[in-house]
Amino acid sequence: MAVVIDRSKCIYCGACVATCPYLALRLKETYVEVIPEKCTECQLCIKACPVGCISLPGKDNESKR
Ligand code: SF4
Ligand code: SF4
Repeated sequence: MAVVIDRSKCIYCGACVATCPYLALRLKETYVEVIPEKCTECQLCIKACPVGCISLPGKDNESKR
């Protein structure tokens, strides 16, 4: 399991990429890529995202806090 990013809401700020301690997020040309094998579901990126577009499937809408 890994986090999912809603690309329609993402403003491409890079905060999640800078926050992830496990390098599971990567800035691509036009979107943020999640590398599922590296994600530990620590949810730090969810808290870091200013628009709340990162979520963890199965743990409904913790991004909204
Ligand atoms: S949940 Fe943690 S490990 Fe997974 S992408 Fe977010 S910050 Fe990285
Ligand atoms: S923190 Fe949120 S808005 Fe910023 S790049 Fe990551 S997913 Fe997109």
